Amino acid sequence: MDPAKQLYDLQTLDLRIAADAARLEAERSKIQEPAEVRQARSAAKAAEQQLEGLQKQLRASEQEAAAINVKKTAVHAKLYGGAVTVPRELAALEAEEGALAKSVSQLEDRELELMAKVEDAEKLIAGAAAELQGQLARWQSEGSAAVEHIGELESELRQLQAERAEQAAQVSPANLALYERLRPRKANRPVALVENNMCGGCRVSLPSGDVHRARGADPPHLCDNCGRVLYVK
Ligand SMILES: [Zn+2]
Repeated sequence: MDPAKQLYDLQTLDLRIAADAARLEAERSKIQEPAEVRQARSAAKAAEQQLEGLQKQLRASEQEAAAINVKKTAVHAKLYGGAVTVPRELAALEAEEGALAKSVSQLEDRELELMAKVEDAEKLIAGAAAELQGQLARWQSEGSAAVEHIGELESELRQLQAERAEQAAQVSPANLALYERLRPRKANRPVALVENNMCGGCRVSLPSGDVHRARGADPPHLCDNCGRVLYVK
């Protein structure tokens, strides 16, 4: 077997393995939660937090109004209970009751405002939840296709790795070492196919004597210009 052909076949397998590995990585990145889903999720969360804040304000306002009402009832009882008779004191109690009633009415206005805001926030939450659900469904349909593709690529890669190991076992240790040494320096293409007396790696024309000597040479013949292993079919 021509050593250069052995190395050329090895290179072909290595390039297929590298291409599959890159595709696998791209598919795996699809499995990560996409930006649209993350955005929809945080919008839904923000809407929920807004509603929570409004409900808290509403409860506080209701509690305040209840406390003032208790006070107002006490003032009212005092005012009409008959125990207080001094006109100046009665006038003061009347004024206090009036002020308390005004506070309650202000709080009630505020509650109405807050209730309207709560309603808006609830609508916002419903919209955000629907958006999130839609984005999740879309991602999951894309994701399941990606999962399937990942499975296919993984089994293809396993098969290619096995073929590669078999192929590498046929190459002499010295030639395999040469290939592995050149590989990183030649951008994963350490073997060049010679066509029309031209090196396929650097496109330089080779003397016909070189091409003749390269055929079947062991150790393989290297291109004088680019240093790649020359494979003459
Ligand atoms: Zn060359």
